[in-house]
Amino acid sequence: MSSTRIQRASHNVHVPCVDLPTYIFSNSVKHRKEPQYFDADNPSVNFSLEQAEIWVKRWAKGIQDFGLKPNDKIMLFSGNSVYFPIMLWGVLASGCVFTGCSPGSSVDELANQMVDSDSVLLLADPALLSTAFRAADKAGLPRSKVVVFSPLGDMSSYNTRTWVSLWPSEAEVKHWDWRRLRTKEQAQSATAVINYSSGTTGLPKGVEISHYNMVANAAQVAFKRTLVGNSASGRERKQRIDVSGERWLAPLPMFHAYGQSYYCTTAAIIGAKVFIMPKYDLEKYLLYLDIYRITFLASVPTLMVSLAKHPRASSYNLKAIEAVTTGSAPLNADIGKLVEEIYLRPGVQVKQGWGLTENASSATGFAPDDRDDGRSVGNLNPNMSAKIVPQPDFGFESDGSIPYTIGEIWLAGPNIMMGYYNRPEQTASTIVLEDGERWLRTGDIGYIDDGGKLYIVDRMKASGSFSKDELIKVKGLQVAPAEIEQTLLTHTGIRDAAVVGERRRDGEYPKAFVVAQNPEHPPTETEIQKFIEDRLSKHKWLTAGVEFLDAIPRTASGKVMRRMLPGQTPKGAVKA
Ligand code: AMP
Repeated sequence: MSSTRIQRASHNVHVPCVDLPTYIFSNSVKHRKEPQYFDADNPSVNFSLEQAEIWVKRWAKGIQDFGLKPNDKIMLFSGNSVYFPIMLWGVLASGCVFTGCSPGSSVDELANQMVDSDSVLLLADPALLSTAFRAADKAGLPRSKVVVFSPLGDMSSYNTRTWVSLWPSEAEVKHWDWRRLRTKEQAQSATAVINYSSGTTGLPKGVEISHYNMVANAAQVAFKRTLVGNSASGRERKQRIDVSGERWLAPLPMFHAYGQSYYCTTAAIIGAKVFIMPKYDLEKYLLYLDIYRITFLASVPTLMVSLAKHPRASSYNLKAIEAVTTGSAPLNADIGKLVEEIYLRPGVQVKQGWGLTENASSATGFAPDDRDDGRSVGNLNPNMSAKIVPQPDFGFESDGSIPYTIGEIWLAGPNIMMGYYNRPEQTASTIVLEDGERWLRTGDIGYIDDGGKLYIVDRMKASGSFSKDELIKVKGLQVAPAEIEQTLLTHTGIRDAAVVGERRRDGEYPKAFVVAQNPEHPPTETEIQKFIEDRLSKHKWLTAGVEFLDAIPRTASGKVMRRMLPGQTPKGAVKA
């Protein structure tokens, strides 16, 4: 299908063929005794990897003693917590599979994911227990399989068992070990996590990520963070930067691949100290960046916009920051420049990275000393390949100013997902076998310059059944229009509906077009917005409004023709 040149990464890194917990604990020999994970709200709550390994063994054995078998799925319904890494590593050490759900999920959303992922155990934040029980009832999971994910040392008495109550004593795990994965085949075929993504079309799907995928992505990102220049030769590579003294702040949700991979894998192996924010709050975010002397920031564009527009920026000193990366959605270069001017030391730049849940989070980025003008998303991670595949009718018309081939970006490498859980057809249309490699169709349109830097210019528009038009990014989180549309159609006053992402300077916002069942008595805009607010998580609310139409433009096969909706332009122009 494609004939374009394959771009290879300039480096390769060794990917150990082990399970993720083994990788983490065997890589931390130098820093394992120091406190590494902190509760940002209360930093006296912290732990080292040495301590973590004991807790992980107790939790992993506890899971097995509770009757769970390898490959059973365990779901977490909670916000961030300093104990998240313990919970994740323990699930993986037990041989089970982790899946996380947004703490803002409704009963229906939670139940759907539970059924879709075949989860047999639900861990829930104490404050979310009533939603968890109702969802378990709906999904057919016995209430005895709902367990409280409470902080360690929490003495409150719950009517429900807590995850820690399942742990055997320390003495009981002294001579116990988890079943280690030791070969490439084992690490590649063992599922570690199922993260939810709508991919390029349709409803959210479970992205199956193996232990090998996770280890590879952690090794790739760690290598890049410590590299002296992307073009560094073998000799220069020996002088890698020591980042073990880094301090990271962790506000990004860990149920999403981005937060999960940075905080629970990469940080662990490089020895960075991580201050986990249980709940995001802008003032606390700035305060913590200042008082914890944070040195590295993994961010998203909405956080960058909040920083750039903060009225009392001068109250905070962020001069300890040495590197900033932002990803998950495009960053307006002007916003990046503003953040640099307001907060950062001269020479420290805001740089973009790019990746997908389907490639275990990160595919490109910059080495610390690479310069950038804010438009590129960086070079390929080690061990990765990319090619640009021009597609017929992909909805992007170049004005001729870009002297490179523009097309859909395909990616290959050790971090490309196993597939969509239980969805062979969608997997087959997303993973293409060509040139002896497994290529992930990303649905993103871009190009690669002569220096090997990638640029994202748009998302794929309708091209047969492959259309990334269908993905909306709200504050870095995915919103599948199909999910909102299906919910709108359950409203008795709505006959048909289509949802798009309205692009504004600071991001995308969901907007609905609806056809009233009875045009004489249509439901009001506020009523429709409230209907969605009662049923779906906050990032899916119709914040860009509702517009009434006589009909939704659809193809003969019934697919919404989003480009034909009022105000939609082929290039997805940015609204002021
Ligand atoms: P997710 O699976 O939630 O991480 O979403 C992946 C999608 O986010 C990509 O396919 C892109 O469409 C978008 N994305 C991530 N990073 C960037 C970036 N730096 N610039 C533009 N789009 C991005």
